[in-house]
Amino acid sequence: MDSYENAWQGVRARIAKAASAFGRDPSAVSLLVVSKTFPVEAIKAVHRLGQREFGENYVQEAAEKRAGLAELPDLRWVLIGPLQRNKAKVAADVFDRIESVDRLAIAERLSAARRAERGPLEVLVQVNISNEVTKSGVAPDAAVRLARSVAALPGLAMRGFMGIGEPTEEVGKQREQFALLRQCLEAARAEGLPVDVLSMGMSADLEAAIAEGATEVRVGTAVFGDRRVGR
Ligand SMILES: *Cc1c(COP(=O)(O)O)cnc(C)c1O
Repeated sequence: MDSYENAWQGVRARIAKAASAFGRDPSAVSLLVVSKTFPVEAIKAVHRLGQREFGENYVQEAAEKRAGLAELPDLRWVLIGPLQRNKAKVAADVFDRIESVDRLAIAERLSAARRAERGPLEVLVQVNISNEVTKSGVAPDAAVRLARSVAALPGLAMRGFMGIGEPTEEVGKQREQFALLRQCLEAARAEGLPVDVLSMGMSADLEAAIAEGATEVRVGTAVFGDRRVGR
């Protein structure tokens, strides 16, 4: 399990290097380790290195892992996969942050279901910046409007925006898409919304995302290796 140490340190080094290259403070870019499909032992191993935030795609999988890791109360669980209506109630309990909010009806359910003693649930609005790869996410020109409505919900803390770049090796194209997400954040701020999080960039394109202002990168493969089907 210590084999994860080199990989995790390597990703941290990539983040620091990219931040410096683009004139940014490395501590302004946080690392969300994406643990979907990997077992609790893998999460424990990376937690031992100092990692605290983990991203999951499925509500049920995260609920089971959270229960299995109850001895580590300082873990933060983040949903980055699409959220179905009928899972919203459970999700409001399992997660500390949900990055895949792309319609108001879901946000309303999350807000209503969040128990007051947990404090407001942090949410990001997911924006479709690739226009193709995924159907998830609101169109860029509708993002600020949704953010405004979400920000008004009492059980939620509207923190910013999340996007998934289209897989391409062309850095210029990567940056173009991430710039769209940055523009959402800037437009929301200009309206006075208290947003500060830009979640963009994964194993293959985190440098381009950091260049465009990412405050969080979501990395699975570069830490844990390839996800095997059926794992
Ligand atoms: C799986 C996933 C990631 C991690 O991708 P890697 O290429 O393994 O780093 C990041 N974001 C989302 C939304 C994902 O579903």
